[in-house]
Amino acid sequence: MKLHEYQAKQVFAEAGIPTPGSALAESVDEVVEVAADLGYPVAVKAQVHVGGRGKAGGIKLAENETEAREAAESILGMDLKGYTVEKVLVEEAVDFTNELYVGVTMDRGEGEPVVMVSERGGVDIEAVAEEDPEAIVREHVDPAFGLHPYQARKAVFDADIPDEVALDVAGVVSTLYDLFEERDGSDVEINPLMVTADGEVVAADAVMNIDEDALFRQPELAEMEEEAAEDDLEAKANEYGFDYVRLDGNVGIIGNGAGLVMTTLDLVDYYGGEPANFLDIGGGAKAERVANALDMVFSDENVDSVVFNIFGGITRGDEVAKGINSALEQFDEIPKPVVVRLAGTNAAEGREILNDELVTVEETLEGAVQRAVEFADDRAQEVDQ
Ligand code: GDP
Ligand code: MN
Repeated sequence: MKLHEYQAKQVFAEAGIPTPGSALAESVDEVVEVAADLGYPVAVKAQVHVGGRGKAGGIKLAENETEAREAAESILGMDLKGYTVEKVLVEEAVDFTNELYVGVTMDRGEGEPVVMVSERGGVDIEAVAEEDPEAIVREHVDPAFGLHPYQARKAVFDADIPDEVALDVAGVVSTLYDLFEERDGSDVEINPLMVTADGEVVAADAVMNIDEDALFRQPELAEMEEEAAEDDLEAKANEYGFDYVRLDGNVGIIGNGAGLVMTTLDLVDYYGGEPANFLDIGGGAKAERVANALDMVFSDENVDSVVFNIFGGITRGDEVAKGINSALEQFDEIPKPVVVRLAGTNAAEGREILNDELVTVEETLEGAVQRAVEFADDRAQEVDQ
């Protein structure tokens, strides 16, 4: 689970990491009010669960009230990679001379946490990681001992962090590692950690992702999660009890069983399409679950077609087929084309039952995925015109 920047900053600040003064706002007037309290210049920052907000227009600096109003008007309500911005963080703008990167994550290959430090932080860290991986210094941590202070200093030294802030940065790295460990983090990151004109360091951004399975022992963070789950679709998925992950593409995917859904995702990619989501409706694909799943995928604006990949087990293919029919019969007009592939128990009976005025039935998974990708391409083109 992901915290919003404003929540992660709260956790970081409580742990002693310097962060700029800031407050949350949900309307243009509130932005102006907060900015007046903080004093100009301010940064207005979209609070949505996507990276790269800066490049996508979700972060603007304002020198005065007119600019703050303009920034708030353009950011509040905007669509940022499929998420509508409903809250912004208004923050004292930092007068910086350099942008650093510090982070802690789990290195699954090594089976150990790894601390990362770079002198080349900022919006292009992904490019740095790809083109010049040496510029990001990595220090593995034996979780039995934690991060030794000398390791933090070594990482900072190896990363050529300027001398005047080296000890402060090492301190931030140590605190970040402690948070990672104590708060069950999966990724904890500051990018950029800004170096100010007065030689101080301050966390201008904050990322904190938590191991979901550990939330039971992190009640404070679990409460933040409820506040953070402002994505309607993710909230809906929780309500319905589905495993759901929203993705960037336009082919909606519904299946029963994680393996089956992953296979479908891979095939959509293989046939040149882009998956819009991972949605596992689990065993017992009864009519109501099928209807709920369709409701979710149809209400995702990015979806242009839907592919069902169902393996009949205890819930037989004919029951699933009836569920799909009755879910689709509720619509006067099917909003997006639906392709169904049924296999397993009573699959043939199920295919007979499916109403082919409402859905396209394909016998093979490959066939179903190809059709869904074609439908999605056609519809995307129509919408473009
Ligand atoms: P991200 O793009 O979603 O990672 O958002 P960040 O919070 O990292 O901001 C992206 C970029 O916006 C930073 O690297 C800075 O260049 C700029 N930025 C963010 N906050 C401030 C600020 O307070 N002052 C200044 N001058 N620039 C900022
Ligand atoms: Mn950032």
